[in-house]
Amino acid sequence: MKYIGPLLPSLLLLLLTKPLCSQVAPEAVIQEGGPESYVTYLPGNMPLIISIPHGGYLMPEEVPERTCVNCARNQDIFTLEIGLDVRDAIYDMAGYYPHVIINNLHRTRLDPNRNVEEAADGNQNAEKAWYRFQGYIDSARALVTGEFGKGLFIDLHGHRHLIMRTELGYLLSGEELQFDDEMLDLGTFIEFSSIRNLVSANSGALSFSRLLRGPLSLGSMLSDIGYPTVPSSEIPFPAAGEPFFSGGYNTTRHGSSSGGTIDGIQIELDLDLRNDLSRREKLAEDLAMVLLDFLRIHYFPDLGFSPTGDAR
Ligand SMILES: [Zn+2]
Repeated sequence: MKYIGPLLPSLLLLLLTKPLCSQVAPEAVIQEGGPESYVTYLPGNMPLIISIPHGGYLMPEEVPERTCVNCARNQDIFTLEIGLDVRDAIYDMAGYYPHVIINNLHRTRLDPNRNVEEAADGNQNAEKAWYRFQGYIDSARALVTGEFGKGLFIDLHGHRHLIMRTELGYLLSGEELQFDDEMLDLGTFIEFSSIRNLVSANSGALSFSRLLRGPLSLGSMLSDIGYPTVPSSEIPFPAAGEPFFSGGYNTTRHGSSSGGTIDGIQIELDLDLRNDLSRREKLAEDLAMVLLDFLRIHYFPDLGFSPTGDAR
């Protein structure tokens, strides 16, 4: 599906009334300007939710630039395009759509990966967009929980660190990841992790450290097909002093650290990967395949969410 603009609310309601497992492709329609266009929800019909908080372009007059001190304003370039391509690739491979929530406002106007005060910097229009963004993720989580019992939330970002590798945030800092596996598996760290539920409910009964950086971790699956990733078997933790994003507001709020059965992982793609068009197109297909594999291996071995098209 080509992204042509945010959904009309009426169409959204219509789509939400359809059965979750229907194979109907949810379509976006053009919505010109105004607050309705600031956030888009593309409904899905599988237990995967992807949010794209920093890829937006809109800079409307009624949402002024955030002037807060020390607030990040960098756009995560091409993450909106990559996220939508991942959605299409998942449908092509498996016949299902993930739920996708997009902030269309430029990060200079709204940062939905922060609490509302920092996110909107006091502007009411930006605050409304923040509540809309977060509310759509809440709705998608409730739908997935009701239909499938558990699921996975991905907060999709792009970083500008000089080390070109993918960073995965499970709410463990770089320093915490430096602990050995035995220490990580003791329990204290699991409790605060965004994949807390998966540790107790994964299909293969893998330990926390195996889920973080074992052969079947998301990081190792990405590394295995040519995307260096931390944490993974290859790079189990960032070295002392190396920059690393461990997961932000969205991963904390929508993952399972504070309860529930939806886990959360923040994915941070490097700049070289996003800037190169040919690599970007391949990346979307590879990410789709890996996410489907991750869901099948650890969550739903029997539901057919595999890249082989079994679900069609
Ligand atoms: Zn970001």
